[in-house]
Amino acid sequence: MNATELKSLAKQLGADLVGIAPRERWADLPPNQNPLSIMPQCQSVIVLGRKILRGAFRGVEEGTNFGSTYNMYGQSWMEFTFMPRVVIAITNEIESTGAEAVPMSGGTPAGENVSINVNTMANLAGLGAVGKGGFFLTRQYGIRQRFAYILTDAVLDGDPIDTPDFCDGCDACIKACPLNAYRPDNSIDTKLCNACSNGRTGGSALSCAPLDRFAASCGRACIVATEDKIQEKFSSPFRKRAVWTRDFFGVPTVTPLEDGGK
Ligand code: SF4
Ligand code: SF4
Repeated sequence: MNATELKSLAKQLGADLVGIAPRERWADLPPNQNPLSIMPQCQSVIVLGRKILRGAFRGVEEGTNFGSTYNMYGQSWMEFTFMPRVVIAITNEIESTGAEAVPMSGGTPAGENVSINVNTMANLAGLGAVGKGGFFLTRQYGIRQRFAYILTDAVLDGDPIDTPDFCDGCDACIKACPLNAYRPDNSIDTKLCNACSNGRTGGSALSCAPLDRFAASCGRACIVATEDKIQEKFSSPFRKRAVWTRDFFGVPTVTPLEDGGK
């Protein structure tokens, strides 16, 4: 199976994004982050993404429903039901060709000897890059995807590395943070994030986003800021009405939209 055939198959099996990082791009990573520490004969890392539906953010955006919208269809079922089905289906197909394939979740539990950074692999596989706000951005969906990956000894052509320029001239995520958690150097005070009640949620250690900020004020501001830049288009803007935020103590503020919403 060559790279083109693999990508076509992965799309048929439910992947929205597929990129390949060949061995020469990651072979020199430190042993505790290196795919070769898990699979010594690894030649290619196949990074798979599934988009998070824009609609999965709707309940949080409106401040009305967090659990049965984002927490299920945006987070836990995405990570632990929808994505593993795609990964295991593709690894089965690869192994049916005689190559070995190691299915990997997006995250690594604490205490493992080797912890591969899924965002690093997604970048080396040409899917995008981490932006100013700390989110991995793809041209197709902006921040709205989750990743997992497969290690294989199949030799596959790599995809060119690509860095979207969405953050140029933008600081919407930084301005949207009610707790001022972004430091001047754009690093993030994660202690403040862990106290944030603006849609932030905790992820599992196996998640590609253990501190899950996609639906928080910062993440939703990025959805708004990038909706004209990404490839997936909608017939109406994401933000429909006044923006809610809560301060460190949970005290709410509601800020009307300048245009009143569309
Ligand atoms: S809101 Fe703007 S600056 Fe922040 S991550 Fe998104 S594109 Fe980059
Ligand atoms: S999770 Fe909350 S505190 Fe952290 S950057 Fe986002 S909005 Fe700010």
